[in-house]
Amino acid sequence: MERLWAPWRLDYVQSADELEGCVFCAAADGDDEEFLVVRRGERAFVLLNRFPYTSGHLLVAPYRHGVNFDGLDEGEALEVHRLGAEGMAALAAVYGPDGFNLGWNVGRVAGAGIVDHGHLHVVPRWSGDTNFMPVLSGVDVISQSLDALWDLLSARLRSP
Ligand SMILES: [Zn+2]
Repeated sequence: MERLWAPWRLDYVQSADELEGCVFCAAADGDDEEFLVVRRGERAFVLLNRFPYTSGHLLVAPYRHGVNFDGLDEGEALEVHRLGAEGMAALAAVYGPDGFNLGWNVGRVAGAGIVDHGHLHVVPRWSGDTNFMPVLSGVDVISQSLDALWDLLSARLRSP
């Protein structure tokens, strides 16, 4: 049996087509709740993926546009790592997943929806999960759960 895990399939593809400019830069300069930002550090920040592959799918990005995994400076690399770990801890407390996938998609052929602003995916996993969240089954349900999750995670991450 072949299993293919493809968290990039829905990652910002829709929003990238709808928005001009970079979603991460817009989120970096924008309102936390509107852009689902749950934690801001000095060099990097954490937001919920608006088109999650599983519930709680987080993205950790440097504020700086135009760098990817191999272009982060030391301060960015350290903070992306630490914020990713904090995100995992918050998800563990709120959702109790059985595990996580963490990864970077570099280049469009590798599945990156936004190719010019690197970001780390933090994807909670549950044993027996199907790999396919029913994201298309109801936009209202999804946006409502994203708002609820934003409340939970931003509260937890801002006062650790
Ligand atoms: Zn950007």
